[in-house]
Parts: sequence; C-alpha cells; structure tokens
Amino acid sequence: MIYLTRQYFNLCKIQFLILLSLQAMGSRHFLGRYVGQEKGPLLVAIGAMHGNEPAGVKGIELMLKMLEVEPITHPDFVFKGRFLGLLGNPTAYQRRMRFVDVDMNRHWDPVRIRQQVQQPELSRLVEDKAILSLLRLLHEEIRHDQPTEVVLLDLHTTSSTGGIFTIAGNEPDSQELAVELPAPVILGLADQLQGTLLQYFKSVRLDVPIRTISFEAGHHTDPLSVNRCIAALTCCMRAIGCVRPHDVESQHMRILLDQADGLPKLTRLVYRHSIQPEDRFVMEPNYSNFRPVQKGELLAYDSQGAVVSPYDGRILLPLYQKQGDDGFFIVQDVQL
Ligand SMILES: [Zn+2]
Repeated sequence: MIYLTRQYFNLCKIQFLILLSLQAMGSRHFLGRYVGQEKGPLLVAIGAMHGNEPAGVKGIELMLKMLEVEPITHPDFVFKGRFLGLLGNPTAYQRRMRFVDVDMNRHWDPVRIRQQVQQPELSRLVEDKAILSLLRLLHEEIRHDQPTEVVLLDLHTTSSTGGIFTIAGNEPDSQELAVELPAPVILGLADQLQGTLLQYFKSVRLDVPIRTISFEAGHHTDPLSVNRCIAALTCCMRAIGCVRPHDVESQHMRILLDQADGLPKLTRLVYRHSIQPEDRFVMEPNYSNFRPVQKGELLAYDSQGAVVSPYDGRILLPLYQKQGDDGFFIVQDVQL
C-alpha cells in the first residue's frame, strides 16, 4: 500500500514536472533544468544578461549536458537540489548586442517592476519584458520546488582582457559565497551600480533565503571564458552543497586559480567613471583588468579632453566596446 501510494505520488510529481518543463520550455529564457535526487538549494545561473556575452550561455548548456551523463559514469553521484539555466536577454543575444533598448543589468528597478507586474502594458522596452519573464520563471520554480535556499549566479564577460572576478553585495552571506570561488572578489562595486540584478534581490523579499553573486569570466570572445563559467558553476555547486567536495574534479579549481594567479583576493571599489554617449569616451589602448594605475595617469579621452586616474590602484572593466555606461573603475587591494 505504501509502495503504491508512493508510486502514485511519484507519478503526480513527474506529471507536474513535465507540465512545469513544458511551460518553461515555451520561454525563450529557458536553457534547461537538472533535478537532483535529494532536496536542497535551487541554483539559478543566468547567462547573457548582456546579449554580446555568450560564454555564460554556452557554459550553462555544457554544464546541463555534463550533469545528465554524470550519474551514468559515476553511479554514486548525488545532486542535492536543482540547477536551472536561464538566458537573460534573448533578443539582444540573437543580435549579439549588449542590449536593445536599455542596459538590462542597470534596469532592475523594484518600483518600475512592481508597476509593470500590475500593469503589463507599461512594459514596452525589450529589457522590461525580459525582466518580467525571468521573474515569472523564477517565482514559478521557487513555488514548485520549495528549495532550502535560492542562489543566483549571474555570468558575465568583459570587453577588456585579463583577470576574472566575482562581485557580491554587502550581505555577509553573499560575500562568503563569493570568497568560496577561487577568484578575486570586488567589494563595493555592487552598491555603486544602480539597477543590477544583485541590487534588486537585495531590496525585495522572497519567502526563501536568497544569495546573489556575479562572476566575470574573462574576455567576451575568449573560448576559455566558457570553461571558466563551467568552473565557476562547479565551484558554486560545491560551496552551496549541491555536490559533494570529492565529486568535484580539481581541474575546475585549477582553471580559476590559474587565471587568478598573481591577482589580489580582495579589492574594494574606490572610483567609478560613468559616461554618457555624448562624452565620446575613448579608452587608451592596452589596459586590462587589475593592471596597476597611478594617480594622474592618462587613461582615456572624452569631449572635455584627457581623462586621468584620480587614485592609485588597479583598473577594472576598461571599456573597449561601443555600448556601456561605465568607462572604467578603480579598485584598491584590501589586506586580508
Ligand atoms: Zn555583462
């Protein structure tokens, strides 16, 4: 009897999962889902929130394939919780543009989103619609899965070369998770950038604990950026308990450690150089992430003339693409 009841329950569960999958698969944001054998956290990875950053999407797709074959090659493999892969901005991704109407990772405004949830006709921009669709998928997944916690890993790449890093908000829980990934952590950046996914989930309440971090995997077109996204996903799964430490191959740690070699583990943002299109900002060539700069050093030109560094420190995210609101950032090392 117990067996039959359990069988019936499992059948209902499978039917519901199929229904949920069909709903999600109808969405252009859905990349895939892996359901673990045991209950646990819900890890949601988002790729291509900026459409010209395909590495995250490719990394998520490969990770989903790897998870499917893992129990075949390792029969004792156990996954706790779920992994959901989402594509941030499908329209911009199709066109390989950072964004179509507005920068999606500067557009997570809680007030605007609340208004549009109540009046969907207000969401006219491509990125408005993408944000609402993503939130719908996420809430549906949480409602069904009832996870122990939600972890959002937002995968990005940069127009400049050199270095990988993670960004966490001020919350200790998110910072602890960011530190677990073998990559430099940038403090203070999340609070300087308005309208990011990180900021949004800091200000809204969910029924379940949530941690959010961003990972920058290297240059947009570097094929190894895909490997680094996979490595970051693996390290994150290990850190939050989806997979057991001994199931994670050390090569994943190695990929990140090699790229982070010689870079400071912890830095803090001291300056953001925001720009407008009319500034005609042009970065000087050959700056890469974490390259040391000195106060007064010529970094760029704009319509007003020379742009120099206001501080000693290291340059981060120097802009070498047409679209973007930030010319560069300056960070300084934090002693551990
Ligand atoms: Zn990005």
